[in-house]
Amino acid sequence: MLHPVRIPRRKDTATLLRGYGTSVSRGPEHRVAALTLAALTLVAGLIGTANLFVDGTLHQGATRITYTVAMAACLVAAAALAVRQRAGRWQTFGLVMLAEVVYVIVVLSVSVPAQATPLMLLFPTFVAAWFLGPWMLGATMVATGAACSIALGHTYDGALSIAVQVAISAGALNTAAVGVYVLRRRVQRLLEATEALSHQDPLTGLANRRVLVEQAPRVWRQARREGSRVAAMVLDLDHFKQLNDAHGHAAGDAVLRAVASSLAATVRPSDVLARAGGEELIVLGLVSDPAEAHRLAERLRAAVRTSRTDDGHSVTASIGIALTRPTDGEDPADAMWRLVDHADGAMYEAKQAGRDQVAAVLPRQRAGRFADSIPPGGRLGA
Ligand code: GH3
Ligand code: MG
Ligand code: MG
Repeated sequence: MLHPVRIPRRKDTATLLRGYGTSVSRGPEHRVAALTLAALTLVAGLIGTANLFVDGTLHQGATRITYTVAMAACLVAAAALAVRQRAGRWQTFGLVMLAEVVYVIVVLSVSVPAQATPLMLLFPTFVAAWFLGPWMLGATMVATGAACSIALGHTYDGALSIAVQVAISAGALNTAAVGVYVLRRRVQRLLEATEALSHQDPLTGLANRRVLVEQAPRVWRQARREGSRVAAMVLDLDHFKQLNDAHGHAAGDAVLRAVASSLAATVRPSDVLARAGGEELIVLGLVSDPAEAHRLAERLRAAVRTSRTDDGHSVTASIGIALTRPTDGEDPADAMWRLVDHADGAMYEAKQAGRDQVAAVLPRQRAGRFADSIPPGGRLGA
């Protein structure tokens, strides 16, 4: 059974999931959606405006002015959307409501009302169902019912006939809205599940290597902002093969899960804890000096040592530390893997020194900017 382990969310993914199916707000997908809405609003406004120049299409008099204002509103809304290239929830709601009002004005303005079919509301209906939350969608569905009642009341004679037509048109539109809304929620849930699976190690529930790569820019940015150092810690379980051989692979899996759970409870909230593969784990975090990194590594070592499966199996870990200060122009992901390589080297030193201990990069082995990570005395812990 997987235990819940916090995986830091990528900003772009969080934005995607927040925005997908909720509002036409930020990010490239949202820009495309906003521009699509702008284009469709523009087309509606232009077609409607063209009617002003076709004799006999519209009534004369006051309704013609209202109609002109409505078309101008469409064109202005399209231009505003095209310029902003995004629309928040309220703006999208306003756009759908505008479409409902414009539809009613069109019905009251055209010479042959039957030509202004309620199907004109199909597109606003889909927009509302895909982008709005339940309450706003509900409000637009009520507006659709009202718009159909006004339009069809104007087109048909007889209360029964009008009621039947309204029920058919508003019913069809609102059923389509509910259908699209349900579909959207399913797609949203599927995306969230896919997102979680693609970032999780299935055995332990920990983050995987992909999360490390995605989190590196955030960690590097934060280190630069705070003037702190980035620490990478590589943990490798000791004699894990022996444990598998002696107690079976299932026991080994249970130990991995227990260790993961214990480490997840030990790392700090801003640290990234990931299973790099096999019985190797990586912790990426910020520290102010090597001593702080050492303290954290010792806490992790103790956490592994004290974790136990239900069957009483336990294990120890050898831990390697490397630190760096981010520099201008370096790629955070590349720098992160370089740092992990250094920490890996230190981890092997901990193995050679007898396992179940912490080691850091030695100055003579790692020149350059990694040298600042070395505490006096070289290897840490032991
Ligand atoms: P050392 O202390 O030198 O690290 O010894 P070790 O036995 O831990 O290292 P070695 O690399 O020889 O063996 C690693 C073992 O980890 C072998 C492999 O079967 C086991 N292992 C890797 N992934 C899993 C897993 O998901 N589940 C289980 N049960 N075992 C795994
Ligand atoms: Mg290993
Ligand atoms: Mg090992």
